[in-house]
Amino acid sequence: MNGKKALIIVDVQNDFCEGGALAVPGAGEIIPVINRYINLFSAKELPVFASRDWHPRNSGHFRDSGGNWPPHCVQNTEGARFHPRLKLSDKGIIISKGTIPEEDGYTVFQGEDKDGRAFDDILKDLKVGELFIAGLATDFCVKYSALDSLDKGYATNILMDAVRGVNTNPGDSEEALREMEEKGARKIKLDEVESLLD
Ligand SMILES: [Zn+2]
Repeated sequence: MNGKKALIIVDVQNDFCEGGALAVPGAGEIIPVINRYINLFSAKELPVFASRDWHPRNSGHFRDSGGNWPPHCVQNTEGARFHPRLKLSDKGIIISKGTIPEEDGYTVFQGEDKDGRAFDDILKDLKVGELFIAGLATDFCVKYSALDSLDKGYATNILMDAVRGVNTNPGDSEEALREMEEKGARKIKLDEVESLLD
C-alpha cells in the first residue's frame, strides 16, 4: 500500500512504566527515544498517534472479572495517564482502546479517537499507508497492533529501540518479534528512520 507514513506510540502510560500496576521492565528507557521519533515525524508534518489502554473498572480483562491482569489503566485514573516524560504535541491523535468490559483492547485497531472514529478509518482519511510502531509491550499490544496492521495491508515497521516487552515467560518478546517479522514487519531503528524521512 502506498501512502503517508505515520507514527503510533502504543500505551506509554503510567501503569505500564516503573512504579505502575503492570510495569514493563525498561519502559522508562524508551521514552526519550520515542520523543525523538515524535520530533522527527512532527517536523515532517506526518501523523503521530498515541494509543492508551482505557478500561472500565469492571473490565473482563482484569483478574477480578476472570481475566489475566491486575487492574490497570482504569479510565480517568493516574495510572491511565500518559507518562509525564512523553512529549506528545497538541496535534497528536489519542486512540483509546479496551474501553468496553468485553474487550481486551490489545490492538490499537480496536481503538477510536475522542469523536468515536475507528483507528483504521482515520488512517484511511489521512491516506496513511505505512505505520511505525513504538511503545509497550512488544509481546502484547505492540504485537497485536502490528499483526492487525499487516493484515490490513499497511507496510509495518517495528521501532526496535523504542519498544519493550513484559516477558512473562522468558523469550516472549523475541518470539513476538519473530512472528511479526515472519508476517512481513520490518525491524528498524532511529538512524534508519531518519534517513527514510529525509
Ligand atoms: Zn489492558
